[in-house]
Amino acid sequence: MGDMTAKLLVVGGGPGGYTAAIRAGQLGCDTVLVERSRLGGTCLNIGCIPSKALIHVADTFGHAMEHARASPFGLEVGRPTLDFARAVEWKDGIVSRLNAGVAALLKKNRIRTVHGPATMLDGKTCRVETDIGPQTIRAEHVLLATGSEPVELPFLPFGGRVISSTEALSLPQVPARLVVVGAGYIGLELGMAFGTLGAEVTVVEAADRVLPRYDTELTRPVVRRMEALGITVLTDAEARGLAADGEALLVRAADGAERTILSDAILVAVGRRPCTQSFGLERLDLAMNGPFIHIDERCATSMRNVWAVGDVTGEPMLAHRAMAQGEMVAEIIAGERRVFDKVAIPDICFTTPEIVTVGISPAEAHQAGWEIRLGHFPFSANGRAMTKNAEDGFVRVVARADNNLVLGLQAVGHGVSELAAAFGLALEMGARLEDIAGTIYAHPTQGEAIQEAARKALGHALHM
Ligand code: FAD
Ligand code: NAD
Repeated sequence: MGDMTAKLLVVGGGPGGYTAAIRAGQLGCDTVLVERSRLGGTCLNIGCIPSKALIHVADTFGHAMEHARASPFGLEVGRPTLDFARAVEWKDGIVSRLNAGVAALLKKNRIRTVHGPATMLDGKTCRVETDIGPQTIRAEHVLLATGSEPVELPFLPFGGRVISSTEALSLPQVPARLVVVGAGYIGLELGMAFGTLGAEVTVVEAADRVLPRYDTELTRPVVRRMEALGITVLTDAEARGLAADGEALLVRAADGAERTILSDAILVAVGRRPCTQSFGLERLDLAMNGPFIHIDERCATSMRNVWAVGDVTGEPMLAHRAMAQGEMVAEIIAGERRVFDKVAIPDICFTTPEIVTVGISPAEAHQAGWEIRLGHFPFSANGRAMTKNAEDGFVRVVARADNNLVLGLQAVGHGVSELAAAFGLALEMGARLEDIAGTIYAHPTQGEAIQEAARKALGHALHM
């Protein structure tokens, strides 16, 4: 095979890499994208999309179960059963459709895609082991978008019943007993989904509470739901490894005592680490930021014309951050003047109920030295939430006391992930409390709670 040349070489076809490639193609930049596995990366194949599909299955099953037990509005249904294999097949079908969609978008924008693992030879060249032999690609610019992978605990290596999120998303059946190590995003999103589907779930968390990234006011409705599902939570607890029988999990509990937890599957979800190993990155002599590739506000690395985006560059490891960075890098390479100057990156935890945060929390505002106004509006006073039988939760707004500039918006409740768009826009447009209070929010919607929270911060909520 002859060597390939391009203006831009993108290594990694996840949200960061494929978005950069599409945008580069739109801007007429000759681009080659290398992907060792399936297009769409972690997000589309083994992350955001399949997990949300599984959560939807669980929520639907959970609703059916609730109505079978006692329907508040007289719906009569029998106890539901789930063909789990079919649910997994449905989830895989969505993933395949999106895979094909990404491939079509790349093709439409004249991106050449090379399949196989890339090894960097220097800051402009890589070699890819393709099915039909090695391919060398040389480019003026290189974008590293190799993503991340699950952290493995040395005393609890993946294999057999010890699984990562990847295996958890393709189990042959709902495990009867599931132990989840780590009560972060993955542990709780998937742990609660399997709990809803009937697994007996135990969560082992090293911190003193679940979802330690969020304040307890936000996590309280999630904790209530976990209790209702009968999920056992051990906080201040450490997983120690498998018991001698190779089946049960040994845990040091908060009181120091060692406990043995029987399980059919042990999902280890204690974070993700960047993919920086085993593909010749050391040849590039890049400055690092801990385990991550160091980047500046343009996603430039310490080497000229070598760029990096997404999980490989650090927290927050979110698909929409990777995409926004990728789009920007393509525009910079095409000659535009851009910096990554977003006011806020929305953050959603797709537990049941969901948590959404944009900007800063009250505690973070205090830490930053702001004097603040707070508005808090419960869904129990929101008509739409009542009609959806989903009254647990609230919307909260944090604003500067001196000029009412909104610093943060948070919510917990059923379906609040969709409020992220309004929250993000408010922050990005520099909204003040009066802007939110003065916008007409359609009735009846859960969005009205945003307006009421802003009114409340201004001292005149109408429906409370
Ligand atoms: P990735 O998506 O990891 O893509 C990197 C790509 O590079 C991969 O396809 C990999 O195969 C390829 N690659 C790596 N090395 C090489 C090489 N040497 N040669 C060729 N190719 C290579 N984020 C959200 O925003 N919302 C969510 O709801 C959400 N849910 C998640 C649920 C789970 C279970 C998990 C695991 C993650 C979730 N995330 C979510 C995080 C999200 O998936 C990542 O932030 C996102 O995928 C990062 O995009 P990326 O392009 O940086 O990397
Ligand atoms: P996480 O950082 O969200 O949670 C890890 C949890 O494990 C933490 O609560 C931590 O205290 C705990 N922990 C760490 N070591 C432990 C140990 N030895 N024993 C017990 N508990 C331990 O990480 P995650 O859930 O693995 O998710 C990884 C990343 O994937 C996230 O940071 C996020 O960026 C991304 N993600 C995002 C979403 C979303 O946006 N909805 C969903 C899933 C994953």
